[in-house]
Amino acid sequence: MTVTTYDLVIVGGGAAGLNAAAAARARFPGKRVLLIDGEEEIGYYRTLLPMFMTGVMPEEKLFFQRPDDPVGYETRLGVRALALDREQNHLSLGNGEVVGYERLILAQGGRPILPPMFADRRLPAGSFPVRSLAVARRIKDWLPEHRRIVVLGGGLVGSKTSVFLAMGGCQVTLVEKEPHILPTVLSERTAAPLQRHIANLGIDIRVNTTIDEIETDGNKVTRARLSTGEWLPCETLLIGIGGTPDIGFLADSDLIDGEELVVNPGLQTRDPNIFAIGDAVTIETAEGEHHQPWTWPQAVSQGKRAGDNAFRPSAAPVPRVTRVNAQNISGIPLMILGGPGVGSEVVSRPDPDPGVWREFFMEADRIVGGALVGDIAGAGPLHFRMANGEAVGGEAPQHLQRRTRAFAAESWGRLARARRARRFAMEGERA
Ligand SMILES: Cc1cc2nc3c(=O)[nH]c(=O)nc-3n(C[C@H](O)[C@H](O)[C@H](O)COP(=O)(O)OP(=O)(O)OC[C@H]3O[C@@H](n4cnc5c(N)ncnc54)[C@H](O)[C@@H]3O)c2cc1C
Repeated sequence: MTVTTYDLVIVGGGAAGLNAAAAARARFPGKRVLLIDGEEEIGYYRTLLPMFMTGVMPEEKLFFQRPDDPVGYETRLGVRALALDREQNHLSLGNGEVVGYERLILAQGGRPILPPMFADRRLPAGSFPVRSLAVARRIKDWLPEHRRIVVLGGGLVGSKTSVFLAMGGCQVTLVEKEPHILPTVLSERTAAPLQRHIANLGIDIRVNTTIDEIETDGNKVTRARLSTGEWLPCETLLIGIGGTPDIGFLADSDLIDGEELVVNPGLQTRDPNIFAIGDAVTIETAEGEHHQPWTWPQAVSQGKRAGDNAFRPSAAPVPRVTRVNAQNISGIPLMILGGPGVGSEVVSRPDPDPGVWREFFMEADRIVGGALVGDIAGAGPLHFRMANGEAVGGEAPQHLQRRTRAFAAESWGRLARARRARRFAMEGERA
């Protein structure tokens, strides 16, 4: 058996893996790096797939990196990692190759969760999980002839997808099992106006229910049954109920705790030469808290940090572990600061301005999450204070004001100083 050994092997070329590769190349230019991905194409914005598959955005705009861009590392595309042998520092690949590594970064993301009716993972024609470019292309080809659509899952992916489909003239029913859409990031009160806005686009929203059966004409999907017993006409079923870490190939690696690939704040697994990042991981803080910040901005930030950490004597912690991300839902800007934690208190503006809603999830006098809807001014410093665990105490209601001026110039100053300090620290280390 021939084994080619690399200084660094990265599994996964999504936002996390590509940023790790770029950071490692920049920081350790002499190292030989290999990046492996199961997809044939990488370097695209997964977050924009709903816009692409509904025809709102052309395919070429999806890509932030082109296959012929000079990247300075080797790739194996369309090839999956199948098994990890930590004793030998070997990774077995789907093309029969075995590669050796000195350092390994696991960035294989998640795989879509399928509802129980697809337990055998066989989906009839017309039903698709929304996750990869290859499937998004199939959806795009399928939609023009099959415009009666049921979207399962009222989270970010399902809600965004429904909006773009409705804007494209499709007949859309959005099904969410919780009492309101975006249940993991918004309270019912703040979700309500957004839900009305989406319903006004002509989307039929069904909450407190799920789909427990589908009917086919022997080949393709024709109807979907809600748990209430009602049958919905359905020519296309889009599944957007989230993802789960894709950790199957690590089964014998002794890196998995329960169902989790756990890393420390320096993004190291229990094997200090193996890092893991992005949607694949759970980050355990020094206090023992477990975080799963599965968002695009976190994948980017963790990727950069892991690439930077790969050959350092001690791994620097990831700068922030938050689930902050920004959206625009059909003209309504939305800044998600993070979902409610167990036992967190909801503080929201009692009498919102039209079109503007703000809420925070508070633990003691710290903001631990929340959302700004309709007006996201001031989100940067709010995020900063939240991420640093600052006590805001009685100031919280002020921050709920529209176009908040609650941040003294001093807060902006502190933010700028912290950014400068971080930059200098990194530059100092590089020098
Ligand atoms: C439709 C959609 C819309 C979204 N919208 C938003 C949004 O608006 N805002 C936001 O913050 N987040 C959004 N997300 C989530 C965001 O895209 C993810 O958090 C982010 O892409 C995670 O990056 P990652 O690199 O960890 O994983 P991924 O992007 O999933 O990349 C992992 C890569 O690893 C590859 N891989 C997996 N297993 C193997 C293996 N065994 N061997 C080799 N390669 C492997 C996969 O093929 C994949 O290319 C969205 C997700 C989807 C699906």
